[in-house]
Amino acid sequence: MSIATNIEALQTDFKPINVKLVAVSKTKPVEDIQQAYDAGQRLFGENMVQELIEKQQTLPKDIEWHLIGHLQTNKVKYIAPFVAMIQAVDSFKLLKEINKHALKNNRTIDCLLQIHIADEDTKFGLDHAELIDLLREDEFSALKNVRIRGLMGIATNTENEKNIKEEFYELKMLFDGVKVSFFRSEDSFDTLSMGMSSDYQLAIGQGSNMVRLGSTIFGKRVTKQYKSKDGND
Ligand SMILES: *Cc1c(COP(=O)(O)O)cnc(C)c1O
Repeated sequence: MSIATNIEALQTDFKPINVKLVAVSKTKPVEDIQQAYDAGQRLFGENMVQELIEKQQTLPKDIEWHLIGHLQTNKVKYIAPFVAMIQAVDSFKLLKEINKHALKNNRTIDCLLQIHIADEDTKFGLDHAELIDLLREDEFSALKNVRIRGLMGIATNTENEKNIKEEFYELKMLFDGVKVSFFRSEDSFDTLSMGMSSDYQLAIGQGSNMVRLGSTIFGKRVTKQYKSKDGND
């Protein structure tokens, strides 16, 4: 299957059920991204800042770039001028930094708060208590140049579908609760990003409305396939 065929098939499935497709193009060359673009895809996700910047400079300007990986505060300034959404906000400090650079660029940046749902010791993501603390920060409402669009989560990498389903269910419940408690008057809190190639059907079944697919679209990733111009990130 070609990249174009994959995009068309996924878009055909997702449009009627209102699920947004983020094409995860990390490690893939710009030629592959261009093929997906030519098939109508506009939303792309990358997880490395340096790679994202280089691709953004080369590729069409109407692409909506999502940063889906962990972001260090000292790198926010490089992507603030153009990034469409930062999906993995996992601290108030980072949110404040994004707000600062969004303001400098005279923009509002859409963000998702990353929630730690996996049964794994991954470093990133907020637990429930940390999420509530962040939303209750005194300064939170003063951040006028970030817009919290919703939540994002990564399920455990396991064959156990029941386990994955439970994690997605838990995130959906949290999303609904946070929406009612903190964003009742804001229609823009509308995005629940969950599901990758291995588990997106389960995620959609549990209420996801944004999936992040890499290998399903572009084929298996061979790490180091993408060569950064200056070799570091
Ligand atoms: C790489 C990545 C994906 C896509 O993974 P696939 O298994 O190739 O679909 C989705 N989300 C995040 C956060 C990623 O880092």
